[in-house]
Amino acid sequence: MSVAPPPTVTLGDRFARELAEMAVPWRAAEAPEPRLLVLNEPLAAELGLDPDWLRNPEGLGLLVGTVVPSGAAPVAQAYAGHQFGGFVPRLGDGRALLLGELVDSGGQLHDLHLKGSGRTPFARGGDGLAAVGPMLREYVVSEAMHALGIPTTRSLAVVATGGLVRRETLLPGAVLARVASSHLRVGSFQYARATGDVDLLRRLADFAISRHHAAAADAEQPYLAFFESVVAVQASLVAQWMLVGFVHGVMNTDNMTISGETIDYGPCAFMDAFDPATVYSSIDQGGRYAYGNQPLLAEWNLARLAEAMLPLFADEDEAAVATAVEALGGFRPQYNAAWSAGMRAKLGLPHGLDDAVTQALFEELLGLLEKDHVDLTSFFRGLGAAARGDVEPTRNLFLDLAGIDGWLERWRALGPDADAMDRVNPVYIPRNHLVEEALTAATEGDLDPLQRLLDAVTRPYDERPGLERYAAPAPQDFGTYRTFCGT
Ligand code: AMP
Ligand code: MG
Repeated sequence: MSVAPPPTVTLGDRFARELAEMAVPWRAAEAPEPRLLVLNEPLAAELGLDPDWLRNPEGLGLLVGTVVPSGAAPVAQAYAGHQFGGFVPRLGDGRALLLGELVDSGGQLHDLHLKGSGRTPFARGGDGLAAVGPMLREYVVSEAMHALGIPTTRSLAVVATGGLVRRETLLPGAVLARVASSHLRVGSFQYARATGDVDLLRRLADFAISRHHAAAADAEQPYLAFFESVVAVQASLVAQWMLVGFVHGVMNTDNMTISGETIDYGPCAFMDAFDPATVYSSIDQGGRYAYGNQPLLAEWNLARLAEAMLPLFADEDEAAVATAVEALGGFRPQYNAAWSAGMRAKLGLPHGLDDAVTQALFEELLGLLEKDHVDLTSFFRGLGAAARGDVEPTRNLFLDLAGIDGWLERWRALGPDADAMDRVNPVYIPRNHLVEEALTAATEGDLDPLQRLLDAVTRPYDERPGLERYAAPAPQDFGTYRTFCGT
């Protein structure tokens, strides 16, 4: 029998050391019988983690937090947050742990973080646990986002704990091991600000600059330059969500990163029929986080970040506010530019067209898609065929044939590049009915549907025979889709 090599995993404790006021040393709960459900081998390799070692009992222990490499200092992170507009000064990791920082093969730092690893001092009324279904859901959707080229936290593994969690019924419990360029959130800054300790706020900003927006350190006003960088990455991120029809579902300020990565896949879902009012989350009754509101809400969250950072912008309140308002003004033009560039690419349009012409084309198209409840993903992918001359599949998606015919004629006259379109319009997204099917099967012990779905959505642009059902919209009887937070 071969002996397992000693763990070579080195986890840094930079956050725990440099921002100790925001880090509560903590350990994961015991997992009665850990069983690996899914492991992201390519990601493990990038991080210098041996997949075979991760599969053995010690490796599984790392993935559920019960084996802590020497020198590591796992912590629950403190953060605040506006939840549906209401400020909560102390949220923090109620069921999560930052195990530490890993250095990848390119020298880049990443957080290794667990979700569902037991109650922490931030748990309030929660049980600190997570069920298999929601953790696999984060795994599938985050890996699909990554494959689509959209910045996101990554998923390394989901391990069933062998324990049960009580939700509406008893469900198998699991821990998700996730990787992010950091877990700093808008809510982290709100927490530091709420303590009244400006030195802590400054150290947090310095930490965030060095980890994410290093160029800001050399600017004339580093904290302002840092804030502008966060505005820029979030404007770009939300534009990319909008272009693929992603609805985050719970854009509270504690769920918005400083790095510009998508984080916290709770009630998220991909929109099928195009409708700006689309909401999936069962608790979002007012539609605050509806698809069409996401850019506005991102801007609102960035205003909360600016508020938290005011003491770093200027000594005088008035000057600080004026600086913040001006910097925040950069969001809309940057969002619009990113979205328009993305739409031009999705429509295969050449560079150098008159903006007024393309904007009119975009607006008219969105009106037609909304009016006829057209499936967004099928439409854009099918449009590649239309650019090659086969317009019937596209026409068949619409009731208003005169409307789409007129639009297609104007669009085709601009000379769209079909091959370029196929590189940016996905065939496969994690469609809600397929995600539910895979999670239900996995909860009952059958992991095959999950693997097949992962195969499809991790190569989203590469159309493959045999995967037709992964490209098709939900059957009519799938009904209204509802998603849930914090499960
Ligand atoms: P979320 O909406 O998932 O981003 O979570 C909001 C807050 O609730 C965070 O502070 C979480 O750590 C906490 N939370 C969510 N679910 C649980 C749970 N089952 N046990 C303890 N804390 C939780
Ligand atoms: Mg969260």
